[in-house]
Amino acid sequence: MLVLWPNCQLCGCDLPPDSGEALICSMECTYCRSCNAATLHDVCPNCGGNLESRPIRPKLEYRPGEGLAHNPAGTQRKMTRYSAEEIIGLSARLSGIAPKDR
Ligand SMILES: [Zn+2]
Ligand SMILES: [Zn+2]
Repeated sequence: MLVLWPNCQLCGCDLPPDSGEALICSMECTYCRSCNAATLHDVCPNCGGNLESRPIRPKLEYRPGEGLAHNPAGTQRKMTRYSAEEIIGLSARLSGIAPKDR
């Protein structure tokens, strides 16, 4: 199951489970749209993968055992361990390469 991490790993802003601002890579590294537009340019600074909109998790139990109450969001706040220089460098190297070719 996808872990919905609570914050952007770059600026630290909150990204709750219903946020339309959350982006993720395939490893669940999580960022906000502002950081993507300003800095990341669809390159995850941790793994080099592309970033896509994170789906919301429904608040209600539309099916037995489903929904946010049964499958709560992650609570551990994480930040990328890479420096601004390293992040910009990887983004510059990979942003022009289509995700399928990375
Ligand atoms: Zn951010
Ligand atoms: Zn990643």
